[in-house]
This record gives sequence, C-alpha cells and structure tokens, in this order.
Amino acid sequence: MPCSPILKANENIMVHYITSLPSPEWESRIPRTLSILGCTGSIGTSTLKVVESHPELFSIVALAAGRNIRLLAEQANRWRPSCLGVQDETLTAPLLELLAPDYHPEILVGQEGYATLASLPEVSTVLSAQVGAAGLRATLAAAESGKVICLANKESLVLAGDMLRTLCARTGAVILPVDSEHNAIFQGLYKRSPETVSRIILTASGGPFRGKSRAFLATVTPEQALRHPNWSMGAKITIDSATMMNKGLEVIEAWHLYGLPSEQIGVLVHPQSQVHSLVEFTDGSLMAHMGTPDMRMPIAHCLAWPRCLNVGIPRLNLAMSHALTFEEPDLLSFPCLDMARQILGKGSQFAVTLNAANEVAVEAFLAGRIGFMDIPDLVARALDACTDRPPVSAEEIEQLDQKTRYRTGRYIEQQ
Ligand code: NDP
Repeated sequence: MPCSPILKANENIMVHYITSLPSPEWESRIPRTLSILGCTGSIGTSTLKVVESHPELFSIVALAAGRNIRLLAEQANRWRPSCLGVQDETLTAPLLELLAPDYHPEILVGQEGYATLASLPEVSTVLSAQVGAAGLRATLAAAESGKVICLANKESLVLAGDMLRTLCARTGAVILPVDSEHNAIFQGLYKRSPETVSRIILTASGGPFRGKSRAFLATVTPEQALRHPNWSMGAKITIDSATMMNKGLEVIEAWHLYGLPSEQIGVLVHPQSQVHSLVEFTDGSLMAHMGTPDMRMPIAHCLAWPRCLNVGIPRLNLAMSHALTFEEPDLLSFPCLDMARQILGKGSQFAVTLNAANEVAVEAFLAGRIGFMDIPDLVARALDACTDRPPVSAEEIEQLDQKTRYRTGRYIEQQ
C-alpha cells in the first residue's frame, strides 16, 4: 500500500503532490529492479553512472535506446539486462551483431516495446528519460502497472498530467521527479504541511543568451545555442533552455506535480545554477536546495529514495564560489516562458499543441531551416490555431500531437 503524500490534500490551500510516496515494501526491496528508458541519452548515461557507483542497490532488467545501438550494445554487454528496446525493427539485427556471443536478451521494438519494458512484472522502478512526446506511452504504461517512476521526461506531465494523476491514484504508481528543479522543490516540501507553503521558485540558468536582445537572438546559430554555460544535456533540452521554453515546460510540470496555482509558481534567473530551486514559506523564510550542477544528484535521490547516496559529485565549496545572483526573466526576448504560463488551466489541448509545435520548431532550427526567433513565433501560431477540445486518452493526445506537427511543418515550408 502506498503511504501518505508528501503534502496532504487540503481543501483551502491547493498544495497537493501528484501521487503518494513509495511504499515501505518498495523502500526495503533491494536490489531495486530497473527499467531504464532513454539509456543512451544524457540522463540515461548519468543513471548508469549512479548504478555503477552503487551496484549492490540496483539490478538492471531492461535498457531501452532510440537509435544508438552501438552505445546500447556497449551498455547491454556490461549490464546484461534480460530485455532491450530499440526504436524500430531495422535496428534489431545490427544490434544482435554487436552483442556478446554468450548473451541473448529479448529485444522489443517501438512504442509498444517501450511500454512493455515499462510494465514488466519483475521491474519495480522505471527511469523515464526518453526525449519529448516519444516518452509518453512508456510513462503511461509504467503508471498503469503501478511502478515507481523516476521521471525525467517532463513532457509526459506536460501532455498528460491529469491522466497520470488519475492513473497513479488508481494503481498506486508513484512519480519521483528527476528534473533538478522539481527534485529540489520535492525535497523542500517533504514533510512540510501545505498551510506553511506560500510559493515555490524555479531557478533558470538563463541559457547561453541571457541578457541578449531580440535582434541579436534572430541571428544566433544552432552551434551557439547548443553551448549551454552550466549543464551538459541532450540537444532538444539545450535548445529549450536557450529559448526558455524549458522553464515554461517546467512551470507546467510543477503545476501538475505540486497542484499550485500559477501565481504561486515563480521563476528566477540564476546564472550560476548552484541554487537548484526554492520553497518560500508563510513566515517569509526560503528553503534553497544547493549543490554542484550535476544530474546524478537528483537521479540518485529518486533511484535510491529515501537513501542519500554519495555518487562522487564534487562538493560545492561556498567559500570559493563567486557571487550568487538572481534576476527576473526577460519575457520580451524569451516569450516561450510566458506562453507556457498563459495556457495553464485552459485545457490540455494547449499544452499538447505547445509541445508538438516546439518539438518541430526545435528540430527545424537544429537543421538550419529556421531562425532562433522563429521558434516562439511558430509555437504562438500553433496555439492561436488550436480550436480542439482537451484530449481524454493517449490516442487523442497522439492525434493532436500529429496534427500540430503537420500544421507546424506546413508553416515552416511556407516561410
Ligand atoms: P538526450 O537527447 O540526451 O537522450 C534522449 C534519449 O531518448 C536517448 O536515449 C534517445 O535514444 C532516446 N530517444 C530519442 N528519440 C526517441 C524516440 N523517438 N523513441 C524512443 N527513444 C528516443 O536527452 P536528455 O537525456 O537530455 O533528456 C531526456 C529527458 O529528460 C527529456 O525529456 C528532458 O527534458 C529530460 N531532462 C533532461 C535533463 C538533462 O540534464 N539532460 C534535465 C532534466 C530533464 P538514441 O540516442 O539511442 O537515439
């Protein structure tokens, strides 16, 4: 049975964490049996480093990549999970070629395969780290089958936060937030009563173009946008950080996770990325979560919860730190943040539209087909054109996602 939420439901103050916490049974069952989805990405490889540093705590049952079968084979030969996942059938034979001769895992394919890997009965814990809307099906499957979900794939919450809340309540599935800001807030809220919380504040690095004008931003190249000052991440989230769409998606993510209204979810630009986020309490005190920016920290926090693991992250030496600074985000140069905030509470059709248009626009920008400032313009255009009703199933989300991708693709062709 799941135990109580970190913040109990309260009729007057709407601070209510999205799911229960993991059960004592899950807590005590070691090794934790893992399905790692998106194992070849930035979060996936950091997750394997966490596992490597405490192999006695974890057992890997499944590893799922997209198309990078060379890295998947390397990881699989090392960890020998019984199941692997790849994006399509054409990758199976070349993957088999790369596996050790004495190792014969089952290989599953595509969205259905990923969903199966997320719901295997022998798996207790799913690390959801596929990129974008592609991560939705597997996250829903993990929720459907009552897993503890260590959630990096923020898009799952953006697209289907309400659905996940309902599913998890029915099955006892649990979401632990890997995204560093939400993980920091989770820790700040833990065991605090809802009446004492006045707001949460997500910090943002500001990306590589902090302080730049719209005119400058119109000229930037993908190479410049991919040079994030503090974090090493996959290409899509790095561009989202540069446009501040990432912070917009995170506001939506926080809205679903913590059940707070928009005005109680603040954003502050903090270029040093040492304060990972803050909780403000009714007495005016602020609780900040600090540390070296390294995703192994929130990943280990979720995978090993409630243990506190040393995974070799360099200590933050405050005496050696430069000044910590904070500033309001520039919503004129970075309109994506406000676009995401404006759709809160208006229906999930807008979140699906915003996300799909953004994914198409980011891809086109990375391919050199559009400029940087076309990204917010295309998202705004897609939102303006959205007259759909809220999707009520995974299939309806996917239909709207596809429709928006097609429409945004047409806008790009017409430019
Ligand atoms: P990466 O691009 O580094 O990795 C993405 C992973 O997803 C890879 O394993 C990739 O496989 C796989 N993948 C890509 N496309 C598909 C697809 N169509 N179907 C199935 N799998 C696919 O991304 P990140 O690790 O940076 O980010 C992963 C998620 O975590 C995102 O939702 C991101 O927003 C979130 N996140 C990331 C943070 C970070 O520091 N990186 C911080 C907080 C959240 P392959 O490479 O084999 O093709």
